[in-house]
Amino acid sequence: MRSARVLKSLVQFACVAVTAIWSANAAGEDGCLYADNVESTSFSGCSNDPLHLGSQPAVLASIKAFALNGVPVSFIGCREAPFLTRPGKDPFSRSYEILYPLGQKSVESYLPPITHELAHVFQSELAGGIAKLRLETISLQRELGADFLAGVIFKNASNVEAVKFQTTVALMSLYRELDENAHGTPVQRNAAFRSGVYLKFSDFDRDLKKANDEFQQNRYATIALRP
Ligand SMILES: [Zn+2]
Repeated sequence: MRSARVLKSLVQFACVAVTAIWSANAAGEDGCLYADNVESTSFSGCSNDPLHLGSQPAVLASIKAFALNGVPVSFIGCREAPFLTRPGKDPFSRSYEILYPLGQKSVESYLPPITHELAHVFQSELAGGIAKLRLETISLQRELGADFLAGVIFKNASNVEAVKFQTTVALMSLYRELDENAHGTPVQRNAAFRSGVYLKFSDFDRDLKKANDEFQQNRYATIALRP
């Protein structure tokens, strides 16, 4: 009798847990890399790059550094949306959409999260697409990896001034922290970003793929252990 009650509560607990996981995924809270173009269609007031972020010099420099020039990436600004990357609408060709919320105080304040999103495009291209990347990595791994790559880019490619470094770090850790398990804690995100900024890029032949391997193989596990 007692074991039946225990079993019943275990089943109830499992159902609640499964529902919670499903809700988190449905809300896209397992990071900002979305699996498809459908789950995020409900964002409102979207239009094609109203802030012209796609032609900002720092964004163009990032695209060049990530060697994404031949990869179709659309920027879409929405009245209400988190920063996120998702596949383009055509399921038969590999393309990407980066969504951003309107209303940030300056174009500069978009650069850290946009660079982070471009890092997801880079990771996806290395893996052979978003679906494969999501299969091969857990959310924390690709999110901290994107923060690391953003750090490498800021220091070596997009010429963001050193005086803005602290602001940038603060923005990186504040942005979209609805679920710390998905993106990492502010301490972990700072550590990943700084690890990229202070990477001696020349030791890796100034090759972002090699830098990415260094992070995934040698640095991620240590940073993920931080509180
Ligand atoms: Zn992300």
